[in-house]
Amino acid sequence: MRRKLVAGNWKMHGRQAANEALIGGLRAGERDFGDVDVWVAPPAVYVGQIAGLVEDGAIGVLGQNAAAVDDGAFTGEVSAAMLADMGCCAVLVGHSERRSLFGESDAVVAEKFGRIQAAGLVPVLCVGETLAEREAGQTEGVVLRQLLAVVERFGVLSLRSAVVAYEPVWAIGTGLTAEPDQAQQVHEVIRAEVSSRDAVVASDLRILYGGSVKAANASALFAMPDIDGALVGGASLKVDEFVAIIRSAGEGSVR
Ligand code: PEP
Repeated sequence: MRRKLVAGNWKMHGRQAANEALIGGLRAGERDFGDVDVWVAPPAVYVGQIAGLVEDGAIGVLGQNAAAVDDGAFTGEVSAAMLADMGCCAVLVGHSERRSLFGESDAVVAEKFGRIQAAGLVPVLCVGETLAEREAGQTEGVVLRQLLAVVERFGVLSLRSAVVAYEPVWAIGTGLTAEPDQAQQVHEVIRAEVSSRDAVVASDLRILYGGSVKAANASALFAMPDIDGALVGGASLKVDEFVAIIRSAGEGSVR
């Protein structure tokens, strides 16, 4: 049985006081989270602050990005080892904003994936197609290309300590959500591909859906057999919304 996971991506939002209020609100509801893992991804400068605020609780800290290199002369970069040192348990890699705005190729994403695992952290590998790719019937090809860039480099067993997040680019921050069966279709393709290489890894792999998830659409998404939780952007900055999403995951958690 796969335990549900709800991860909040704060993107480049936050200030110390606002962060403290947000974490305070989440922690007030923590006992009711049920059988769900909850992670939050603050900007790197606030990782230490958030780690301090959650250390005696159940919320994990997720990095938003890590360098493709180890510590060294790389001004402005933050290594996976530093994120581990500051209390992260996992790091996002291959988020569409990193791919499109910062030019991260599949090869760079794979390199980062390896550095994150080498630092003892769980990579959350984001994959997803653009609207043009979907309309051209390339969804499956794009998603599998992004997945296999990692699998072919590190082997399918590398997915034993990883999470995959399917995030259609056209649904991120747009208010457009994939229909539950549309998302399920892609999750099923991802799991089947992994299963063709290792059935146990596939059945244990948590595949999150991301793209305008909110309290109103979360339950229907979580009811799908291959959707194991959500990567939530905008709605993770609103305590009530985020807690409601976590509760929805808890309600559908036994499978
Ligand atoms: C994200 O940032 O990964 C995301 C899914 O954002 P949003 O929920 O705002 O679409």
